[in-house]
Amino acid sequence: MELKNFLIFGPQGSGKGTQADILAEKFNLVHIETGQIFRDMALADSELGRKIWDLNEKKEMVPDDITLEVLRFHLEKVSVEKGVIIDSAPRTPGQVAGVEKMLKEIGRDIDSAIYITLPYEESVERITKRFACQSCKKHFVLGKSILSQDDPCQECGGKIIQRTDDTPEGIRKRLDTFYEITVPVIEYYREKGILIEVDGRGSVSQVSDEITKRLNG
Ligand SMILES: [Zn+2]
Repeated sequence: MELKNFLIFGPQGSGKGTQADILAEKFNLVHIETGQIFRDMALADSELGRKIWDLNEKKEMVPDDITLEVLRFHLEKVSVEKGVIIDSAPRTPGQVAGVEKMLKEIGRDIDSAIYITLPYEESVERITKRFACQSCKKHFVLGKSILSQDDPCQECGGKIIQRTDDTPEGIRKRLDTFYEITVPVIEYYREKGILIEVDGRGSVSQVSDEITKRLNG
C-alpha cells in the first residue's frame, strides 16, 4: 500500500484515537493527536501554554493560526519517509486551506480521510463511562474495565478520575461543535473523493478490520 498520510475524524467516543493507534502500528505511521498535544501544552509554563489553558477553561477552541503552527511544529519532527495519521485536524473549514498548504510545503499530501461515525446518544453514553488514571493516564471504561469509579488504577494504584469536561453538558457542547464545525470539513473530503466512512458501533477489531479493508480496496 502506497498510502501514507491520513486524516482521521469522528465524534467523541467513536474510538478514533484507538483506531489511529492501530493504524499507526499497522502501517508504521506517526499518530499526531492534536487534542492531546493541546492538553499537554496547556500544562506547559509558557506564554502559549497559558493562552491555551485559558481557552480550555473558557471551553473555547484554539484559534486556527495557533493550531496550524503547532501542527506544523509536530509534523516537521517526522521524517517525510514516514507516514502520519493526523487526528482531528483540520478541525474547522477555516483550517482546511492552511493545513493543505502547510502539508504541501513540507512535502506531504493527504491520501485518505477516515471518518468513524457514531450516533449522538451513543457518544454521550460512551463518554459518560470513560475514566482515566490521574497518575499513569491509563484509560478505563466504567462497567467494563472498572466496576466502580472508586477503584484504584490497575496499573499503578493511582486515583481514577473523569476528564473535567466529561460532564453531560460538556460532552454535548463538544459534540455540537463537532457536528457544526468539523462535519463540513469531512464533507469537503467526501467531495474530493478521498473519504472513507466507517460505522463506529462495532467492536474495536471490527471497526479496525473495516478500515483496513476499505483502505486496501
Ligand atoms: Zn495508573
